[in-house]
Amino acid sequence: MADAIRIKPHHFIDILTSLGTGRRDFQPHPYGHAVHTVSERILADPDTLLEMELGADDICAPCSHNIQGLCDDVIDTSFRPLAPPGKREWNLLLDRRWCERLGLAPGDRLTARRFARLAGDRMGDITDIYREIPADRTRLRASNLRKGIDWILNTDGAPGCSGGPKG
Ligand code: SF4
Repeated sequence: MADAIRIKPHHFIDILTSLGTGRRDFQPHPYGHAVHTVSERILADPDTLLEMELGADDICAPCSHNIQGLCDDVIDTSFRPLAPPGKREWNLLLDRRWCERLGLAPGDRLTARRFARLAGDRMGDITDIYREIPADRTRLRASNLRKGIDWILNTDGAPGCSGGPKG
């Protein structure tokens, strides 16, 4: 059996959200991270096992901003002035909120499909999770996330699917 994919909860949420936009072809990102390969693996088999990771995950592993396990990237604060500018701190904030919302903890293992079902059942109003971001942006995100969840729950996998979401 293939190893579980270690993944930050919000990274998988981003993949689902990207799927909800209709995107199915994931291309390499200039950062060199592994969103495209992780997405392809999950698309090919939605029953792929995920392991919740709040530090550097399998997407971060090959990223040029992953410096000895710590992300040195910064976020665009122009539309979210109250967010911490460091991507590591911002990601941690989102991941902790998602864990709380979904009842998950670091180290928990579940399939991508099970995660999607959990998110569908428990996500509720996510403007609270992304409270530093203008609500109209988050409403669009929520709509695409719902579509992505529905899609993955109703697919048997899409072999051959190959940029998708940001890392
Ligand atoms: S959080 Fe994103 S930018 Fe930072 S190391 Fe991971 S993949 Fe790279």
